Amino acid sequence: MKRLQLGDISITSLIERDGPWRRPEDFFLGYDSAAQAGNVAALAPEVFDVASGKMVITYQTFVVRTPHHVMLVDTCTGEDKGYGPPMDFPKQPWADAFAAEGLRPEDVDYVFCTHLHIDHTGWNTKLVDGRWVPTFPNAKYVFHKGEYAAWEALAKQGVERPGGAGGVWKMNCEPIVAAGQALLVDEDFCLDDGVSLILTPGHSPCHVCVKLQSRGQTAIIAGDLVHHQLQCTDPSLSTIFCWDAEAARASRRRVFEEIADTPTLMLPIHFPSPTAGRLKRAGAGYDWLFLRD
Ligand SMILES: [Zn+2]
Repeated sequence: MKRLQLGDISITSLIERDGPWRRPEDFFLGYDSAAQAGNVAALAPEVFDVASGKMVITYQTFVVRTPHHVMLVDTCTGEDKGYGPPMDFPKQPWADAFAAEGLRPEDVDYVFCTHLHIDHTGWNTKLVDGRWVPTFPNAKYVFHKGEYAAWEALAKQGVERPGGAGGVWKMNCEPIVAAGQALLVDEDFCLDDGVSLILTPGHSPCHVCVKLQSRGQTAIIAGDLVHHQLQCTDPSLSTIFCWDAEAARASRRRVFEEIADTPTLMLPIHFPSPTAGRLKRAGAGYDWLFLRD
């Protein structure tokens, strides 16, 4: 994604992994290939690999610089976690992109996690002498308290759920709280007037989007409210990784309805470059217009 300027706020992206990933029929619940064929044909060329029939899915972190703070939003899968394929992404692309931004770990003031899945919390921690410790020593990490509590409860019961399996809470979240660097917040949390949260439950128990506002401009970092452009065309599509598919649909429709046909930009974590775009009402769904210049 090209660097985006939103008033006094700049946004850029650190990519961990990019490229064709899954077929829609393997990802969306109740997916009807025949009924969706026309929607697939109308997708932006960046988001679908026709040769393999797979959706292009990017794993990335957004770096947000406000006049006062350096923030990261969502932290991919990270390093040394021991995940098996296909989640064993190499660490270097993300680490190189972070350094190329001129950043050192101590420069990060806030880390926001839209939700606590495997691919949104990874770089939260690093392994030092066999212990997981915060990667960013001066950062406060913002987790929704309901999201944290839900995953904590499951982890303590030994229950695994899609997206949160494999010790994700234990490696990526609990050590942040133990180190005293977590802010367990409600959805009314805000920072510097320009950074706030929108509660969008469904994909996870208390998923939040991060709303950025500066000088009359607005952008919403959408996390996993939407994974792919097909869900703009048909917002009823929820995924096999959703906690509550019906709630995910309702959250998607609510946010889409609010920002469609307005200048508000949306940045879904898994959309490939150019990543940012706008929604325009079209029939029962929405057209997705990538920000191109
Ligand atoms: Zn995700």
